[in-house]
Amino acid sequence: MADTRRRGSYQGQKRYGRKKYCVFCADHVDVIDYKDVNTLQRYLAENFKILPRRMTGTCARHQRALTTAILRSRQVALIPYKAE
Ligand SMILES: [Zn+2]
Repeated sequence: MADTRRRGSYQGQKRYGRKKYCVFCADHVDVIDYKDVNTLQRYLAENFKILPRRMTGTCARHQRALTTAILRSRQVALIPYKAE
């Protein structure tokens, strides 16, 4: 009897229909390649700013690695610093 109520509240936790998780943890990625522009671009906003963790679901460890990779990628001009 007590269990039915708990189950109901759990179902109420939906965030726009998709669950957030760290894709790098899911893929067992240790080092994020700064040359992998396609991956990095998914974590950039339209104005090329790095998206915050709460929007992408990336864990703290990988968000740090991602930030480093993006900064490095900008340095070698694979990603622009800001939108024109
Ligand atoms: Zn992770």
